[in-house]
Order: sequence, then C-alpha cells, then structure tokens
Amino acid sequence: MNALSGFPPALVRRLVVKIGSALLVDPAGAVRVDWLRTLVADVAVRRAAGQQVIIVSSGAIALGARRLKLPKGGRGSLEDAQAAAATGQIALSQCWASLLDEKGITAAQMLVTLDDLENRRRYLNASATLERLMALNVVPVVNENDSVATAEIRFGDNDRLAARIGQAARADAVVLLSDVDGLYTANPHADAGAMLIETIETIDARIAAMADDGSASGMGSGGMVSKIQAARIATGAGAHLAIISGKVDAPLSHWAGGGKGSIFLAAQGKGARKGWLAGRLTTRGRIIVDAGAEKALTKGNSLLPAGVARVEGVFDRGDVVDIVAQDGRVIARGLIEYDSEAAVKIAGRRSEDIAALLGEMPRSVLVHRDHMAMV
Ligand code: GLU
Repeated sequence: MNALSGFPPALVRRLVVKIGSALLVDPAGAVRVDWLRTLVADVAVRRAAGQQVIIVSSGAIALGARRLKLPKGGRGSLEDAQAAAATGQIALSQCWASLLDEKGITAAQMLVTLDDLENRRRYLNASATLERLMALNVVPVVNENDSVATAEIRFGDNDRLAARIGQAARADAVVLLSDVDGLYTANPHADAGAMLIETIETIDARIAAMADDGSASGMGSGGMVSKIQAARIATGAGAHLAIISGKVDAPLSHWAGGGKGSIFLAAQGKGARKGWLAGRLTTRGRIIVDAGAEKALTKGNSLLPAGVARVEGVFDRGDVVDIVAQDGRVIARGLIEYDSEAAVKIAGRRSEDIAALLGEMPRSVLVHRDHMAMV
C-alpha cells in the first residue's frame, strides 16, 4: 500500500474533497443526510488532526430538478438546468452549513464559473479568497455557478472543477468520491480479471486508454474520462489525486483504514503559473510547429517564428494557444507574444525578418519558454 493512501494529515496538509450528485441526492430527490453526516464526521476528524479541507459539492441540479418536478433530471434545456441549479443550490448550502455546524465548523460558499478560473486575474482572485478562508479556519463549499453558466462557459463536471480548485488553493491533494473505487485495467463488472491500479505515476496513453474504451469503471466511460482529465490538471499542478468509493459510510476513514482507491501521483517541479497554463480547458488558437521546433521545445527552448508551419484561430497578444505537433498532438501551451494576424505573417520566417515584415519587432520569440508549459 502507498504511504499516501488515505491522504493522511501528516502528508497532506490541504485537501479538496469532491462529492458527486448521485452520492448526495437519493433517487426520490432528498439529500442523503445520514450518509453526508458520516462524511462531515470524517472531515471533522481530519481538521482536528491539522488537515485543511475544501469541499466541492455537486447535487444542485439534481436536487432542484426534483423539487421543481422538472423532466430529465433538470437537464432537458439550459433554462431548466439553470432554474434547477438555482433552486437546488440554496437547499444544498443550507444542508452543508447545518451539518458542518453540528460539528462546530463554519461553512463558506463559493460559486464559480469556468471563466473565474481560466482568466488569470480572476484565477488569482479566487485563489486569494480560498487562502483567506483557509486562514480563517472555515470550510469552503464550492460548486459551479450553474444558474448563470451557459453551455459555453460551463465546466460541466465537478471532477475538473475540483482539480482546478485544488490548483487555485495550492492543495496537496484532491480526492474524488465516486461510485467506483478506483481505476481498473478493464471493466470490473464485465471482466473478472480486471485489476485495480493503486498508484499511477504518469498518465500515459495506456492509462488514458483505460478510460477511453469504457473499460475503466462501472459507470459511463465519460465519468472516468473526466476523472482522468481532472487527474491531469491536479498532478500537473503538483497535487495528488485519488478516486475512491463514496458508496460506504465515512468514506474517508474507510479509505484511510485500508479501503480501496487509486492515486495519481503529483508531477514534481512544475511552477504554479505553468501548472495553470497546462491545466487550462480553453485556448484561443493553435500553432502547428515543425519537427525541429518540437525537438527544441522539448529541450526547454522558446518557440521561434521559424519553426511554425501553420497558425490557426483568432487571438490577441497574451492569449493562450496550443502548440501542436505535425501529427496533431498538443505538445505545449503558452501565452503568445503576437496577435493572430501578425503570427500568420511571421510564421516560418527568421526572427531577423520580423521587423521588415511587421514594421516593428516587439519580441523575437513567438512564445517564450517562461510562459510555456509542456503538456
Ligand atoms: N455542478 C453540478 C450540480 O451541482 C454538477 C456537475 C457534475 O455532475 O459534476 O448539479
């Protein structure tokens, strides 16, 4: 067993705990208060042992839809989902606040949209709020602000939201409470030989494929795909991420007491800014580079215009772009020094020619290595 198993307070000072809708709300539409109370008891034990806890709670749409008697679980239309979220969120917050209060813990609510964490300024703002809440010894309960989030600006799943919050809060680890107890080599329901992978050091193609082919879990493959995406964000930002089952009472103690789980280990040595870059879900453009440039980037060099084969998208200077290899793989992400119009003009040209082509040469590189993260 891994020493990190259970994410003990001695090794994990700050922890994000994500709880999915199915664990929070029963099929009749009521909050599963008895189970939630056992989880809150877990949180209280951890805090007493010195661990700081941030909760990412789903369930607003599920809860609101039942209260409003909306079809399709409130997901029939964007307006329904927004109304359901608005109705469910207030009930959900009340529930968290009163259960935490039973343990003498003050709750704080934070509702965020994708933009709040994708825009660097707002990201730093959210980060500062979380830091202050931690210093004040309260437990933030975070959800996506679904009542105003439109389809384009939604995270859509709280797995990735939890990873982003973990990053913004500089958490040491994120744990996703799920209806499966980890990542399996094959679908455990269909294949008796399926094995739980306890520790994942690198999310390589083999690991990603376990989610892609739908073999990883008992739920829809989308579930595991978003968990792996969350794992990429969290580990890239230097936090461990675990998937454990929430189908037992007191799931955190159960895991710490030897229960099953999969842990994706944090990547070492990525700066916070680079982690933020690599974890972004939206980019403005794509810069397709030649093989020589790909090699240079892997060695840690900046991207020069000479190595660019093609520029796609419309972007401004300072926007985040994907840097893409010839075969379509995204190899890096970075803040671009030129807008798309200028980038198209200087693509494939030597840095010395930039001034003649544009009438000015603000920068000799297209993406500086300090503003680039390999992905
Ligand atoms: N934010 C959504 C809610 O509270 C849940 C998203 C998800 O399913 O992960 O209902």
